Parts: sequence; structure tokens; C-alpha cells
Amino acid sequence: MIRYLRSTLLVLVILEVSGKCGNSATWADARITGPFTCQADFSLAGLEGVLDSLASLQNDLVQLLGVAPAKEPIEIYLFHDKATYSAYMKRYLPGVPERKALYVKNQGPGRVFAFWSRDVEVDLRHECTHALLHASLPLVPLWLDEGLAQFFEVSAAQRAQGHPQLDGVRRNVRRREVPKLQTLENKVEVAQMGRTEYRDSWAWVHFMLLGPPAAREELKAYLADIQHNTPPGRMSTRLANRLPQLDTLYVGHFR
Ligand SMILES: [Zn+2]
Repeated sequence: MIRYLRSTLLVLVILEVSGKCGNSATWADARITGPFTCQADFSLAGLEGVLDSLASLQNDLVQLLGVAPAKEPIEIYLFHDKATYSAYMKRYLPGVPERKALYVKNQGPGRVFAFWSRDVEVDLRHECTHALLHASLPLVPLWLDEGLAQFFEVSAAQRAQGHPQLDGVRRNVRRREVPKLQTLENKVEVAQMGRTEYRDSWAWVHFMLLGPPAAREELKAYLADIQHNTPPGRMSTRLANRLPQLDTLYVGHFR
């Protein structure tokens, strides 16, 4: 439950910021893994497994979604505690929301900020999923962005059955409640995304990636259209056309 509440607070921020990183903080360690350059104010020795799981994310997005590898490097800044992280964010990125971890994108490379905690691996996978998507695709609809970030935030072994959102989704399915994808598609501001929207976004992504193969094929085709700057239309329309019994299939997937 704690993880569920926490994950709904993770957001992405795409905005114009002029903050520069690393011009004053002392970085004690740095590693390169996949497209990520990670700098930390503490030793990263022993954290190779965490960093490797981020590199695996890139492979997963390519294999599972057909998304091209990131076209630009992504910078990760890790702090040893929350106070240091908060002070740094206030100083160099004033105006961004106060969150446990953040993905920030402006004209330069995407940047992920986080601090060490027992949730750091989940925080990093979530924010780095945002970063990888935006380093490859010209746009990502908000609901899909958050749905994918949540899907990939847990370890690969937990994606199918181990996500904290699953219990709530199953409870609704037992009442035959199917969230409206059209409603999610109308949310275009981060502030419009509450717990319900995060849960429903995760559920639709789970359905598309682990449900009927035709649903995943449609998601991949949708992302390929975005990748090639072809207007993709609405995912809700495409899914309904591809799978006429969509609501029934959704209920069957989670039951
Ligand atoms: Zn997010």
C-alpha cells in the first residue's frame, strides 16, 4: 500500500528550466550504463545491479514496444539523502514540484533526479522509463507515459502479477467496472492525473502488453506511427476497432 501511494506521486516534468547541474555539487562517483550517465554524491560501488537494471530497461522498450533506442544520452543525478536532494532541487531547479524523484526535460538531454532510499530502484526505473521514451519519441500521451513508467518501474519478475496497482484493478473488475480509455486520453496536464488516473493508465498498459496479442500489436503500431511522425489518432479508437469485444477482454484479462 505504501508503494501504491508513493508511486502515484511520481511525475514527469517537461518544462523550460535553465538550471545547470554539476556546476557546484561535488560528484563523488560516476558511471555510464547503456544510454545513462549516472553521477552521485556518494560511492556507487555495489550498486551495479541497480544500474544494470536501468540499461535493461532500454532493451525492454526496444523488444516489447518496438521503440527505437534513445537518440541522446540521459543524465542521472543521485543524492545520498533527501535533504541534500531537496536543497539541490530548490537551488538549481526552482519551480519544479517537490517529488521523491523527477524526470526533467528541456532543450538539452533528459535528466533524472533521485535520492537514495529503499525505493530508489523503483523510482529510477519509473523516471528512466519516461526519459527513454522521450529520448526516442517526439511525443508521448500523458496517460501512456505514466502507464508505461509504472509498468516498468517494478522488476521484470513483478510486472505481470506483482505490481501494487493490481489489487485495486481486480476489485473494480469484479464489479465489471472497465475504466474509459477515452477519459484518460483527455487528461493532458499532470495536475489532472490523480490516483485513479494512474491506476487506470497502468491497467490499460498491463492489458495491452500482457493481454491479447492483438492489443500489443496495436500499441506497437501506435508507437511506430508516433516514431514516424504519422498522426496516430486515438488509442481508444484503434483498440476498439481491432478488438470489438474490448471491455469483455479487459475483464477477462484481470479476472
Ligand atoms: Zn511518472
